[in-house]
Amino acid sequence: MTTTSRVAMLRELRPPAERPFVLEEVAIPPLTEGAVLGRMVLAGVCGTDVHILHGKVPIKLPAILGHENVCQVVEIGGSKPLADITGQPVQVGDLITWLPKSCMQCYSCTILKDQSKCERRIGYGGWLPAWQHPYLVGGFAEYVWLLPGSDIVVVNDVAPEAVVLGDALRVMVHAVENVGGICYGDTVVVQGSGAVGMMGILLALDAGAGQVIVTGGPAARLDLVRELGADVAIDIFGVRAPERIAQVLELTHGRGADVIIEATGVPTAVAEGLEMVRINGRYVIAGHYGDAGTVPLNPHLINRKQVTITGAWSADNSHFLRGLTLLRKLSRETLDKLVRPRFSLTDINAALLATERQETVKVVVAP
Ligand SMILES: [Zn+2]
Ligand SMILES: [Zn+2]
Repeated sequence: MTTTSRVAMLRELRPPAERPFVLEEVAIPPLTEGAVLGRMVLAGVCGTDVHILHGKVPIKLPAILGHENVCQVVEIGGSKPLADITGQPVQVGDLITWLPKSCMQCYSCTILKDQSKCERRIGYGGWLPAWQHPYLVGGFAEYVWLLPGSDIVVVNDVAPEAVVLGDALRVMVHAVENVGGICYGDTVVVQGSGAVGMMGILLALDAGAGQVIVTGGPAARLDLVRELGADVAIDIFGVRAPERIAQVLELTHGRGADVIIEATGVPTAVAEGLEMVRINGRYVIAGHYGDAGTVPLNPHLINRKQVTITGAWSADNSHFLRGLTLLRKLSRETLDKLVRPRFSLTDINAALLATERQETVKVVVAP
């Protein structure tokens, strides 16, 4: 039985180019009743990880990052049967992922009934401290040690490459829900062509959108956007904002889009989106996890067009479970385009650098 795990330890915040991760061996603590030891199969690298390295998302050090995870169950603590959040048994050999754990006791969990705003959420991959038990608290590692009561989902029937997209997709499921859904035939504008934006495109198409228009970049990503089925992809590096707005209006008989999904994290995109939305249209802001500052907005647009504006913060377990419907449908060809390249744990710093450079949509790490 293995007694130690290799981990990519983050002891100091530095940009990816300065190689912030150091490989270390960490002792695997004995399992307690209901705890799970998993061997990592695949971990997605998230834009959030890059933000963490730049100090824009606060975490405590030392930390083990990696929150988009698939592992194989190696051992389960104790003798009681274990089930995932849907009631399905969890057994040794299963492929599983696990979701941020909400306390179900705080004001947000009990009164607001909103797990995604839990005040005491437990998240692997940076939010649980790596200097105390159970130590193996992130996916950029050989093994993970899941606390008893973790929100596990058995994913034997989903490709690991699809599961790691579930982190971005669950946010989009939440966003579409908050904005009141997508009606069959709707014109949807997705602002942003990162992993979250890509999931927004796939979700809008799957929900029956009549026309999906994407504003994003760089060009290679927009080629992919078109291959995924978007009707129009507008390059933000080649087309200025007034022309982008004009194009959306032209594509919608001068009326504007029914639904706009913001997935950029760029404040000016919000002002732009308000120009693109139709009368009585709906707008959801989902790309601003970091505080990127303010932007001048024209309230007259909101007033005159009666725009419904909402936000979506992270997601709850139901959003992930519903997202699995789409993840199961993704073809191998699509997954190969979205999820690449694959790095070994030894090359973790290069994986973060590739993510920072936005060379592809979802970089992954396999131990
Ligand atoms: Zn993520
Ligand atoms: Zn809570």
